[in-house]
Amino acid sequence: MDKGTQSIHKKRIAILGSTGSIGTQALEVIEQYPRLFEVEVLTAHSNVDLLISQAKKYKPNAVVIVKEDQYNYLQDILDPLGIKVYAGSAALEQIVQMGSIDMVLTAMVGFAGLAPTIQAIQAGKAIALANKETLVVAGELVMKMAMEHQVPIIPVDSEHSAIFQCLVGEDINPVGKIILTASGGPFRTKTLEEIQKVSLKEALRHPNWSMGDKITIDSATMMNKGLEIIEAKWLFNLRAEQVEVVVHPQSIIHSLVEFEDGSIKAQMGLPDMRLPIQYALGFPKRLPGINKQFSFIDYPELNFESPDPQRFPNLRIARECLSKGGNWPGVLNAANEIAVEAFLKEKIRFTDIPILIEKTLEASSFVPHPVYQDYIDSDREARELTRSFIKIIT
Ligand code: NAD
Ligand code: MG
Repeated sequence: MDKGTQSIHKKRIAILGSTGSIGTQALEVIEQYPRLFEVEVLTAHSNVDLLISQAKKYKPNAVVIVKEDQYNYLQDILDPLGIKVYAGSAALEQIVQMGSIDMVLTAMVGFAGLAPTIQAIQAGKAIALANKETLVVAGELVMKMAMEHQVPIIPVDSEHSAIFQCLVGEDINPVGKIILTASGGPFRTKTLEEIQKVSLKEALRHPNWSMGDKITIDSATMMNKGLEIIEAKWLFNLRAEQVEVVVHPQSIIHSLVEFEDGSIKAQMGLPDMRLPIQYALGFPKRLPGINKQFSFIDYPELNFESPDPQRFPNLRIARECLSKGGNWPGVLNAANEIAVEAFLKEKIRFTDIPILIEKTLEASSFVPHPVYQDYIDSDREARELTRSFIKIIT
C-alpha cells in the first residue's frame, strides 16, 4: 500500500492521440487507478465525437483537436463544462508544456509525434513513449535532449517495455545484445507469390494484436520490426549489431536481453498493450494487473523462427538506413508513412510498399549530421518523392 491515501499526488497525464488504440487503452488503465492518475489533457486528430465523450468522462483540463474545422463544434460542447479547447498541430506543441502536466503519453501515430515530444522534453515532462516514429526519425537528438533535461523516456511499445523491464536493476551490467520478438504478422507463412496478391483486408487482420491501421500494416510488411530495431538502438544506446530479431508467432515472450555472462532475461505475458501502458504510467511501481494472467499450460509450445529477408525486405531496408544514419531513418519513415497510406486507400499493392521506400531513398538528399530543421525538411522532401512515385505507378 502507498503511504496513506490522504495526499498522494496524482500523476497528471496528457495523452496525445487519446482516440486511438493506445490512447483508449491508456484511458482504460487510468480508469482503474483513480487515486494514482488524473487525465490533464486529451488530444485527437479528427475523431471529435470520441474526444467529446472522453472529455465528458475524464474531465481533462484541456483538449486539442488537430483538425481545425472541428474547433467550433468542440468548443460549443466542452466550454460550458469548463474544459479548454484548442485546435491545430501547433497547439499540441504548446499544450504539452502546460505546468500541471507530469507525464506525456505520446500515443499519436507517425512523424507528427516528433515536434510535441521535443517540446514536452524541453518542458521537463516525463515521456511514456508509444510513438516509435519519433525515435526512428530523430532518436539521437531526442535521447540527447532527454538526457540534458533529465527527462525519463519510458517505452510503451511492448518489445521495448520488455527490454526496459529486463534492464531494471542491471545498471552496472552491460548488455551483450537484445532480441526483439516479432509475431511475423498475417503473412508469416505465405509464399512470395501469395504475398504479391494479398488484399488490404488480409493485411489488416493481425493474428495477435488489435492496433491502429498504420502499425497493423507495418506489422504485416515487418516494417514495424525494422522501426523497432531503430527505436531500440536509441532507447537503450546500443550498436545496431546488438539488436537481433526473432520471429515468435505466439507473442508471449515480448523481448529478451542477453548479458555478458550469457544469461538471458525475457519478459512474458499475454499480448495485451494495457500491461506495457500500465507499467509506463506507474513506473517504477508495478500495479495490480487488469490483464488476464498467462498460463504455461495454455501454451505448451512457444516457437521461434528467423525472419525471412526475401519475403520481408523492409527489415533489410531498415537496417541499411540505420547503418547509414543521418536523415536516412527519417526518409525511410516518411516514405513508409506515405506508401502505407496509399495502400490503406487501396491505391497500390502490398509489395509496392518496399519498392516505393527504396526508390525514395535513392532519390532523397542525404544529410549525414542533421539538426532538427533537417529532419523536418527531409521528411517533407521524402513525402513528396514517394507521392510522385505513387503517381507514376497508379
Ligand atoms: P491509432 O491510429 O489507433 O491512433 C492514432 C491516434 O493519433 C489517434 O488518436 C489520432 O487522432 C491521433 N493522430 C493521428 N494523426 C495525428 C496527427 N497528424 N497529429 C496528431 N494526432 C494524430 O494508432 P495506435 O495504434 O494507437 O498507435 C499509436 C502509436 O503507438 C504509433 O506510433 C504506433 O506505432 C505505436 N504503438 C502502437 C501499438 C498498438 O498496439 N496500437 C503498439 C506499439 C506501439
Ligand atoms: Mg511493438
